[in-house]
Amino acid sequence: MELHGKQLLGADTSTEGSQTFTATNPASGESLQPEFHEATDAEIDRAMHLSYGAFTPMARTTGAQRSALLEAVADSIMALGDVLLQRANAETGLPLARLTGERGRTVNQAKMFARLAKDGSWVDARIDRAQPDRQPLPKPDVRRMLYPLGPVAVFGASNFPLAFSVAGGDTVSALAAGCPVVVKAHPAHPGTSELVGRAIGEALQQTGLPRDAFCLVQGAGNAVGLGLVRHPLTRAVAFTGSLTAGRALFDASAGREVPIPVHAEMGSINPVFLLPGALAERADKIAEAYLESVTLGVGQFCTNPGVVVGLAGDGLDHFQEAVAKQAAQAAPGTMLHAGIRRGFESGVERFTSISGVKVLATGGTADSAKNEVGAVIFATDDLTFVAHPELSEELFGPASLIVRCTSPEKMAQIATRLSGHLTATLHGTARDLRDYRGLIEVLQRKVGRIVLGGFPTGVEVCESMHHGGPYPATTDSRFTSVGTAAILRFARPVCYQNFPDDALPEPLRDKNTYGIWRRVDGQLTRDDC
Ligand code: NAP
Repeated sequence: MELHGKQLLGADTSTEGSQTFTATNPASGESLQPEFHEATDAEIDRAMHLSYGAFTPMARTTGAQRSALLEAVADSIMALGDVLLQRANAETGLPLARLTGERGRTVNQAKMFARLAKDGSWVDARIDRAQPDRQPLPKPDVRRMLYPLGPVAVFGASNFPLAFSVAGGDTVSALAAGCPVVVKAHPAHPGTSELVGRAIGEALQQTGLPRDAFCLVQGAGNAVGLGLVRHPLTRAVAFTGSLTAGRALFDASAGREVPIPVHAEMGSINPVFLLPGALAERADKIAEAYLESVTLGVGQFCTNPGVVVGLAGDGLDHFQEAVAKQAAQAAPGTMLHAGIRRGFESGVERFTSISGVKVLATGGTADSAKNEVGAVIFATDDLTFVAHPELSEELFGPASLIVRCTSPEKMAQIATRLSGHLTATLHGTARDLRDYRGLIEVLQRKVGRIVLGGFPTGVEVCESMHHGGPYPATTDSRFTSVGTAAILRFARPVCYQNFPDDALPEPLRDKNTYGIWRRVDGQLTRDDC
């Protein structure tokens, strides 16, 4: 498939704008053809009108139809074959093996939402039947279910060019809910984005669903993204990336005449607490797994363990020695784009310049011509960490800071002062968990997922996953961007009072045509009512 560099506006393509940009191979600095056109204001407006026009027909589709669409999306992505993997490799520098795995995750996510849409119970149907004879007042017939929000603007993330990008979890969960989607492609992988965007268009065509339910706009500046968020027909936003960008989009939404939900997943340092019993038992093994987690994907994961907190003593000494020894063997890696590398390097300089912070270990020698960086492990003490809030900010890349605490109370103090994060991790024995119960209680208030005995990288895509957390990890801690619950970001409840049966939406009628789980007069059932 030849790339054309145009906006995808439903079944049409468009190149109104004169501004263009190209992708760059981060490993070689080479410009990759073709040129991509920046979307103009008129093209953004057209995308949003097409999307809005597709909303009613999409909202009317059955779960089975949306399921067929998502299955077709998965098949169309696979049908792109090696062309997709090679383009993604050239645009991101991510190895083909990693991209093959990420493609698997992407199609499995689409299939997971296909099953969810077909099952249909996610609409959370609740039925309270009328009791005309109730005293002192009759009870009305009240029924409610979730209804799609409308056109969703999705921002592709640079660090997952497939799984959190054009057909990533945000797009497939929005389509599963019945929302049309307009994607703002990430400017670091516009070609990968176009290929996947065209695959989604083909899937809509094949399944007979409205082509306008999907548009893709390109841009290498803030204007396109802000234009989508500010557009009056946009009903929700999904974003993964930096705190600066996520916050700018959130503020842009708040400045609209009608604010809309912005689900932004942003920075996180994912603190790890090493408890004394675990350190005494297995400091070497923890050090090995820690370095693997820090360097995985050149550290470019929102779940990267950025801070490790431990109690000073033999166990922590042993852990630090093992980390220092193993870090030297860690190979450098190419970062996603030059901007991310520069951000990493200046972050490393910032940490290094703080008195009381030392570089404990560095990885192999990096070649900046290949946009490479090596791992950097810092060490500091509790007082320095608390005195420098900038040490609690995300340093995106293969870097992490070990904080040595002089007492369990200092560890608890650090936990209490944490802002919101996606995850926290504990390494502890059964006794540690009893002794540090208070710490776990504090962490529950700070993060969306608590990992025991492992590391937070590698987010399982499943029903019970929660990938979110209090601000600044996300803009709304009640929601997840991974797992089936991600669909709830794009729906809202509508309640029908005293409607005749045939005027109700199908999932709320007496006969349970789709056989979904419903709460009828307080009882969960699949029976008719
Ligand atoms: P980014 O700067 O957050 O950009 C993500 C998307 O938002 C892009 O489409 C970008 O497009 C747009 N954008 C950026 N600033 C904007 C603004 N002020 N207004 C409107 N749109 C805006 O992410 P990135 O380019 O991938 O990497 C930069 C940094 O983000 C990294 O160094 C890292 O710190 C962080 N990051 C974090 C995660 C995470 O999961 N926590 C993931 C990726 C990156 P335009 O440039 O075209 O505006």
